[in-house]
This record gives sequence, structure tokens and C-alpha cells, in this order.
Amino acid sequence: MPGRIEAVVSDFGGVLTTPLVESFMAFQDRTGITAEHLGMGMQAATEANGGDNPLFEMERGEISEATFLEKLTAALEPLLGHPPEMHTFREIYFEALDPNPPMIELMRELKGAGYRMAMLTNNVREWEPLWRPMLPVDEIFETVVDSGFVGCRKPESRIYEIVLDRISLPAEACLFVDDVQVNCEGAEKAGMTAVHFQGTEQAIADMRAALGG
Ligand SMILES: [Mg+2]
Repeated sequence: MPGRIEAVVSDFGGVLTTPLVESFMAFQDRTGITAEHLGMGMQAATEANGGDNPLFEMERGEISEATFLEKLTAALEPLLGHPPEMHTFREIYFEALDPNPPMIELMRELKGAGYRMAMLTNNVREWEPLWRPMLPVDEIFETVVDSGFVGCRKPESRIYEIVLDRISLPAEACLFVDDVQVNCEGAEKAGMTAVHFQGTEQAIADMRAALGG
């Protein structure tokens, strides 16, 4: 275990799973609602919500999934000209989401090599029973910081502090990996080394390099 890194802090969706874009494509195939519609709907829902993005509120556990879907449905209806069937979103999203075996194997190897392992996920409280069984979470990770249960989300500085509190290590000892650039920037601001996941091979190579080969 060379180098100064002692812990790995991994995202869940899009890193330990197949790309999230596949889930949005599956939703489009089944409902005709495109990712562009969803983006416009989210923007309209944010404006209707006084500037607070309801997705972020749900991810912080401030509103339920049901309330989030009501807000998004109300915003999408005038854009689509009909009420969308948003209640199918969760099922379709998870049906299209698979584990990413090489990344999971890397996490297992790093744990075996003595690294402390933590997961840091922006997630939805109601989705925990769906995502947790996809991975050997408890075998690999000593702690899971889930935005829906801690009341803050990446890239807010507080959520990186929660991870550091849980593992009792300084930020400089942590290697963070995430498929969302702003989350990596938040981790770097907190003092962690960050790898922006853009593909499995690239992320594994970059993580190994950051860990000192
Ligand atoms: Mg992600």
C-alpha cells in the first residue's frame, strides 16, 4: 500500500453500475419521454418550486419520492400536452441498471490490499432496497453516506465532512471517484484527490496511478 492514500471514497450510480444514460434511454423507449423533456421538466419544476431544484430536495431527503414525482409530473404535463406516467420511472430505471463488475472487482481488491473503503452516494431514500442488493455493499464498504439519509448532497462541503468523520481520516488520505465532474470538484475542494470516472478502463488506470501504481 504505497503512497499517502489510505481510503477510497466511491460513488455508486454510473461508477459501480452501468452508465445512467442507459436507464434514461430505457425510460424514453418505454414512455416516449426523452432526457431532453426530463431536463426541461426539471427546469420548469425548479422555477415552480421557487428556485429550489426538487431533485436536490429529494436527494437530501427533504421531500419524498412521491412528492418529487408530483412536482415533476405537473411541470412535464404542459410540455408534453398530456400527463406523463412518471410512476414507472423507478422500475424502468432500475431494470436498465446493472452492476459494473470490473469496478466492483477493483474495490474488492483495494479493500483486500488494506485500503479503508467508503461509499458516498447522492441517492433517494425510497430507492435503498433497490440499489443495495445490486452490489456486495457490506462486504466491501465499511460505511455508506447516502444523501437521502444525511440531509445534504454532493457537491455540498458538509457531505464530504461526514465521510471524513465516519472514517476518522484527513481528506488528504482519501481518493474519491465519481462520474459527475462537479462532485469531483467538491471532493478536491474538501482536500481529497479525485478521479473523474469517464469510462471503466480510464477510471481504473487513473485510480491506480493516484494510488501509486
Ligand atoms: Mg454517479
